[in-house]
Amino acid sequence: MRIGGLHRHSLIDFPGRLSAVVFTQGCNFRCSYCHNPGLVYPEMYGPLIEEDEVLSFLSKRQGLLNGVVVTGGEPLLQPNIETFLKKVKEMGYLVKLDTNGSMPERLQQILQEGLVDYVAMDYKAPLRAYSRVAGVQVDTEMIKRSIEYITGSGVDYEIRTTLFSGLGMSSVLDMIGELRQMKVEFYYLQMFVPFKGCDESLKPKGLDIEYLRESLLCRFWRSGVRNFDANRKKDFVKV
Ligand code: SF4
Repeated sequence: MRIGGLHRHSLIDFPGRLSAVVFTQGCNFRCSYCHNPGLVYPEMYGPLIEEDEVLSFLSKRQGLLNGVVVTGGEPLLQPNIETFLKKVKEMGYLVKLDTNGSMPERLQQILQEGLVDYVAMDYKAPLRAYSRVAGVQVDTEMIKRSIEYITGSGVDYEIRTTLFSGLGMSSVLDMIGELRQMKVEFYYLQMFVPFKGCDESLKPKGLDIEYLRESLLCRFWRSGVRNFDANRKKDFVKV
């Protein structure tokens, strides 16, 4: 597996778990607000970390960490991710997978093999605007199918959307409606958080967050708006 980064411990990436975070290299989307361009654009790739090095680290942390997050980039692009996940599961770790939902069949296989315990899938935009926001041509049937596999799998999950200047109120309300039609029960909005060197114009604007928060509460079992108060350094505003 092409591993471009490793965070040795995190309290925020896997709900309720102290986890390590493994970053895979390569992505088939080009979202303008991406926080990890060094894992997306080949000309920005850094050196790879040996898979054995990561497995050895995880082996030594058994009993100290209890979760492993595999994120990217897009992890399902990795042809041998199943083998890696099996090794991680054999060590007794719970696994969270982050995905952009563009490869439903690969996702389904991993779900059916019991290789993940939690899936976080991005829902980038209302279906009509998906390709614009993802920065590449997207077959939205793939996105819908990934959601269908996730919600039907029995595996814990969340669907989430990054709110940035390219999504206005009508787009967010359309997404809420689309996801309810797809029987999604756990949905989070997360405000784009500016990072060093990013385009400040990407910051979300013109959104009525209180209204959106209430809309989520009425429609989903688990929901929230994350990073709402980022300017005041709060990580998460719970609703
Ligand atoms: S799918 Fe994720 S990793 Fe890929 S470009 Fe978009 S935000 Fe970045």
